[in-house]
Amino acid sequence: MSGSYDVVVVGSGPVGTAVARELSDAGSGLRVLVLEAGEALGDTAGGHVKNIADVDERDRLLAGLATGPAPLPGGTPARPGTALIGAASMPNAAMSTNVGGMGAHWTAACPRPVDDEVPDCVEPAVLDEALARAEELLAVTTHAFDRAPLTGAVQRVLGELFDRPHRRPVGAMPVAVTVGEDGALHWTGPAIIAGDLWQRPGVELRTGTLARRLLLDGDRVTGVEVVDLASGERSEVGARAVVVAADAWRTPQLLWASGVRPEALGRYLTEHPQIMAASVLDERYVPEDAPVDTALPVTAAAAPGGGAIVPVSGVSWVPYAADRPFHGQVMQMDASPVPLDPGVTVRPGQVVGLGWFCRKELSPDNRVWFDDDATDAHGLPAIRVDYALSAADTASIEAAKTEIAEAARALGRPLGDPFVMPPGSSLHYLGTTRMGRADDGTSVCDPTGRVWGTENLYVGGNNVIPTATACNPTLTAVALGVLTARSLAASLAATPVAEEAHA
Ligand code: FAD
Repeated sequence: MSGSYDVVVVGSGPVGTAVARELSDAGSGLRVLVLEAGEALGDTAGGHVKNIADVDERDRLLAGLATGPAPLPGGTPARPGTALIGAASMPNAAMSTNVGGMGAHWTAACPRPVDDEVPDCVEPAVLDEALARAEELLAVTTHAFDRAPLTGAVQRVLGELFDRPHRRPVGAMPVAVTVGEDGALHWTGPAIIAGDLWQRPGVELRTGTLARRLLLDGDRVTGVEVVDLASGERSEVGARAVVVAADAWRTPQLLWASGVRPEALGRYLTEHPQIMAASVLDERYVPEDAPVDTALPVTAAAAPGGGAIVPVSGVSWVPYAADRPFHGQVMQMDASPVPLDPGVTVRPGQVVGLGWFCRKELSPDNRVWFDDDATDAHGLPAIRVDYALSAADTASIEAAKTEIAEAARALGRPLGDPFVMPPGSSLHYLGTTRMGRADDGTSVCDPTGRVWGTENLYVGGNNVIPTATACNPTLTAVALGVLTARSLAASLAATPVAEEAHA
């Protein structure tokens, strides 16, 4: 073995980074190695690409990530920073391979789960505290767009339409964004979660390094076989414990490839069926002195939902409630998603994109599985996806379409009809290593993330979220990762190394 660590974490996305940070913060001098298959984008390891001021440099970095299969029938090109998986039943399913994972590209919306979204295997008070810690790590705020001139109007209109006494009111979406003293927005990538982590003694981020197999001795993981992707050289690193936070596709893939195959592995895959619409805000909501944006009408090809968030109309939120199985995000678009009529002029912030995310019913038949007869580019079993909507899902989608159309009309002039994005578009993939109270075949790990039947192998990510949710998952996944790190740190502290060696 080349080197030995207390904990090896696989994946440097928001969850892997948060786990490493919490382990290090536990203060016990733990030696932590984070393995990341991808490379850093720009000068800051795990920085959000939108913080890279040089647009040409940003585009160059993103172009380097545009690998993977071409869009399948029914799908669309991959979102910048992601590569498609190539799954016919979920044509827009994608992944990111770079330091920071998808967290270097995300939109940073961070609502908390409520009602039936909340995993019932974690004590509510414990989860609440972990969510608060996750909000702190991600620098979540509802005030990033306080100065956005159109926010108040958007929220007033949506509130009149959707607020009910038993629901959380329409308001500002909590976002992982920091506002600089000069008013500039800084997007939270995993670099913010890390802070000074990568400079700390005993902590190492090893990039361009793929975890190819977990090394096991009975029910104990003893290390990881790794491949240096530049040289192809293979080696082994030893570990007292391993946390795999390598996304909802590659976490179960690594377990499968290593012979760790609980019955529920890969099953209960969900995402958030996504409905999109756009509207030009009514002139009544636009301050008279707002400048006209002549660039907008001609840049009509922007991907719906891909709009950057800029501080004009902010990000407004129509929250989820158990009796309303979706939630809505309304934000400024970079460009109109459909050609505007000739001669129409709009002002910055006046074209808003509406995205409604639906809760998807859980089913063991929706799953990612691994083909032992075919391999991916790294020789790992190929990723396959079985995914279908149920009658209840279709009903939710229809209800969301009706509601989003209502919202688009209330805000101003709808641009075309609402449309349902191809499966996989949400980029929120959940459940494939779900947690549960008991090892009963419906879960892969316990509420601390420890894989059933193992002593010291843990999983993290959206894939551990066990419930059918509508809320964007990263905040919840980071909170559950915080609990994993704390539990693991306590168990390592309680077990002296010498004792483990003889276990
Ligand atoms: P990831 O961020 O996917 O990181 C996993 C990492 O593991 C990757 O870096 C990968 O290279 C690495 N890895 C995989 N396999 C291996 C291996 N074998 N060896 C070594 N390394 C490996 N979520 C929200 O909650 N709100 C949003 O507003 C939102 N908007 C989004 C917008 C976009 C454009 C995108 C792309 C995503 C968005 N998401 C959003 C999703 C969000 O980014 C993910 O939920 C989050 O990044 C998941 O974190 P993670 O650490 O579990 O996984």
